[in-house]
Amino acid sequence: MENFQTTLQREVSLRGIGLHTGCQSTITFRPAPPNTGIRFFRTDLPASLPIPARVRFVVATQRGTTLGLNGHRIHTVEHVLSACAGLSLDNADILLDGPEPPAMDGSALPFVRALLQGGLQTQKDGVKRFLRLPHPIRYESDASSFIAEPSEAPEIHVTYTHPHVLVQRQSFGTPLNPDAYLGEIAGARTFCFQEELEFFKKNGLAKGGSLDNAVVIGPDKIHTRENRLRYADEFVRHKFLDLLGDLALLGRELKIKLRAVRSGHTHNVAFAKLLEEAARKLRKNQTCS
Ligand code: ZN
Repeated sequence: MENFQTTLQREVSLRGIGLHTGCQSTITFRPAPPNTGIRFFRTDLPASLPIPARVRFVVATQRGTTLGLNGHRIHTVEHVLSACAGLSLDNADILLDGPEPPAMDGSALPFVRALLQGGLQTQKDGVKRFLRLPHPIRYESDASSFIAEPSEAPEIHVTYTHPHVLVQRQSFGTPLNPDAYLGEIAGARTFCFQEELEFFKKNGLAKGGSLDNAVVIGPDKIHTRENRLRYADEFVRHKFLDLLGDLALLGRELKIKLRAVRSGHTHNVAFAKLLEEAARKLRKNQTCS
């Protein structure tokens, strides 16, 4: 059963405010045929083409991953895509009546709940597509490093370090499956440091940000609407959530064991391109031999 693609049984929608643009939007997840992949549609723009959730359509990675085509953009796709990848959803059309999905509570949990409410549908006429590697792939840049090895038991391990006394070093790893994603990853919220708030304001970032959709790390206190962290190591789990969302841009279910240190959207996307290239070569060799 797990070798077939999946889509939704029925359409589901959520409404809220976008984290960076501050724009209200409704996001609608619709069932899609096998081999469609995940595609975004800007329903508020005339003659807008579908924007495939693929790495070659990434146009920006500052504080979030932005997709674009013909000047039309979708900001901050990573939490939505993380929810899709976390549930192993292959095919869906995602309609958006604004430039950015709603931030909801800053995690992927509201999207996961909506998708589960829509119900997952196995597509027996579509064989699941996997990303397999011919050999380990390494990436190092600045203080970030990634290593992926071929593995039929996929797993991701993430380390996040920051000099802030309330963070320092957090590590988290888990096998990739929907149960682990739902229990360990989906609820981890976006976070930022209090000293960044002025920078965001000056640069027009996080216009929709508030304690409703982000955890703010102050000099000696963590501020959250819920007055507690959802996990003691919620920050590294959110890094995991973001990384899985960016790797969903490969459009295939991962068959890798990955260790990532100090991941972030720019590095995630650069690494995803290396994985895509290696996996494509492997498929080509297999077809020709
Ligand atoms: Zn995030």
